[in-house]
Amino acid sequence: MRYISTRGDAPALNFEEVVLTGLAPDGGLYVPETIPQFSHDELAAMAGLPYTEIAFRVMKPFVGGAIAEDDFRRIVEDTYATFKHDAVVPLKQLSHNHHLLELFHGPTLAFKDVALQLLGRLLDHFLARRGERGVIMGATSGDTGSAAIEGCRACDQLDIFILHPHERVSAVQRRQMTTVDAPNVHNIAIQGDFDDAQAMVKASFADQSFLQGRRLIAVNSINWARIMAQIVYYVASAVALGAPHREVAFTVPSANFGNLFAGYMARRMGLPVKQFVIATNANDILHRTIADNDFSRRALQATLAPSMDIVVSSNFERLLFEAYGRDSVAVRDLLGRFAEGRAAIDDAPLAQLRSLFSSYSVDDETILEVIREAHAHTGELLDPHTATGYRAAMRCRADATTPMITLATAHPAKFEDAIVRAGFPGAPLPEAMADLMSAPERFEVLPAELAEVQAYVAAKRR
Ligand SMILES: *Cc1c(COP(=O)(O)O)cnc(C)c1O
Repeated sequence: MRYISTRGDAPALNFEEVVLTGLAPDGGLYVPETIPQFSHDELAAMAGLPYTEIAFRVMKPFVGGAIAEDDFRRIVEDTYATFKHDAVVPLKQLSHNHHLLELFHGPTLAFKDVALQLLGRLLDHFLARRGERGVIMGATSGDTGSAAIEGCRACDQLDIFILHPHERVSAVQRRQMTTVDAPNVHNIAIQGDFDDAQAMVKASFADQSFLQGRRLIAVNSINWARIMAQIVYYVASAVALGAPHREVAFTVPSANFGNLFAGYMARRMGLPVKQFVIATNANDILHRTIADNDFSRRALQATLAPSMDIVVSSNFERLLFEAYGRDSVAVRDLLGRFAEGRAAIDDAPLAQLRSLFSSYSVDDETILEVIREAHAHTGELLDPHTATGYRAAMRCRADATTPMITLATAHPAKFEDAIVRAGFPGAPLPEAMADLMSAPERFEVLPAELAEVQAYVAAKRR
């Protein structure tokens, strides 16, 4: 399998290269040159198989020959052995034809583990084969940092440095990063805000000389391997509910659109999905684009669903590329207009998107109301991100006879503030994490100065 850029001006790469590369050199995102197809019979044969077997079958065509089959199978099994539920991503029925897909049974209690547990192992495999070592740098305002750390802690070829704004992330989120005791894991608390931390990571990618030849690797949500890993749970949950013999629908709490783009890929591969509902918080660029054809930036708002607080949805470019019939010139033009302010999607691609996608935006007050309402009706305590999905599913579902699957992207204990504000006494951490609040922490406080941060990274990397 080869991968091409959405902007049409970067060399095509194989799977190994695309995993190690991240963003394409022309500023675009890599997508597979051809979309693998699953026949009706191949999908039907997946019903009832273990999650890891479905994962192996769904991802194999994307990997191509880049990893020996036995090695890939072992990597997939190791990856999902870190999940605390035997079904990996269990489905729970909420009400008539409405199901919750629990994606939060991984080590950091959020759906990002599904992809980052795999990505760390893939990187380790490729680097070991090349005899190279890699350094991962990332900035986090909470969620992604801990998932990336957990994904890399067991990787011999990788050192990971995660920057977070000092005293500006929640205690649970900080502790999920700083209590990881592994020689290749380094937490840096920056005396500044998230933007300072992110600016230093960006500058480090732009000039990597401080690493003296080590490869710097990004694990952000544009990495193709993350999308690939997420395709699996769309297929697994749909076949569990009767696909390919009947259609299903999905509602996805969305921000950078990596999660939902994986669902779209599953449909293009042959999964019968009738409808996708995009749920956003008050940062509603995706909703405005689909509902009003208003593709424009607005100021960031801090919400009760902080992992969905974004201004631009980076993976939406991949969907635009498909909606424009893979016309990279048209995509470049559209994104050029977007960069200057506001862009409108052309009629034909917009109509095509609207025939499949609905959207809904949920403000903070409504998130609290939904947490109470869902608990009263179903007995489930939803985290604030999942709550946006629950409301969007209720408001947007096109057809009550089609099973609706709402993706539960985080465990409620991770966002206890919102749970308490909704009027509940709290949300207990799962037993496996009971010692999180008492375990010793390790992190280095550094000033928001690039030279100091880079000197620290250079000194600590192995
Ligand atoms: C990252 C995240 C999202 C948004 O996912 P995207 O792939 O960026 O659309 C939603 N919920 C939670 C809990 C997250 O951590």
